Amino acid sequence: MGEKYEGRKFRTSFQTKELPEDTRTAEIMEWGTKLHGMGLLPAESGGHAGNMSFRNNKGFVITAGGANKGRLTPRNFVQVLSCNIDTGKVEAEGELEPSSETFIHYLIYRERPDINAIIHVHDSAVTENHEKLGVKTTRKKEPYGTPELAYEVQKAIGHERCIVVKGHGVISMGKSLWEAGRIVLTRHGDAEKLPKE
Ligand SMILES: [Zn+2]
Repeated sequence: MGEKYEGRKFRTSFQTKELPEDTRTAEIMEWGTKLHGMGLLPAESGGHAGNMSFRNNKGFVITAGGANKGRLTPRNFVQVLSCNIDTGKVEAEGELEPSSETFIHYLIYRERPDINAIIHVHDSAVTENHEKLGVKTTRKKEPYGTPELAYEVQKAIGHERCIVVKGHGVISMGKSLWEAGRIVLTRHGDAEKLPKE
């Protein structure tokens, strides 16, 4: 939120232009339409905020950087094969660049074998009220798309299903996309019920 978008901060090498074939891309499209309609995946400079992914046997499939999540097409999905945070390299298959926050998804899947789907939204109601809602948060603010931010998230996730990235947004983690989506909706509903100051 409010941060200037300057493109992604890693280099992608595409092994093929093949698009992922998995019915879960259709699930992401549905969640995209719903959450975009709720204003949780807003347009920002350089594209649209937020990103979604699911784990598969080759790595994980993630939405393309800046894609309009309200109207995703098959081209907006990228298969991530491997990530090297230290060298800033990502190996992928697809047509478009993966989300600028690919490292965050990579670290969550690496650290949490119980998690198969991640939804990141810009929900200001939850982000600003994380304390009242009892949602764990990252400690230090770091610029988007950096290894530092990914490591801050890694430190905060523990066994949580939902965390707030300080001053930025919400990361929801589930065994399935359905579960991750439900958590986003529940947290948003809880924040809406808070008494207005
Ligand atoms: Zn974000």
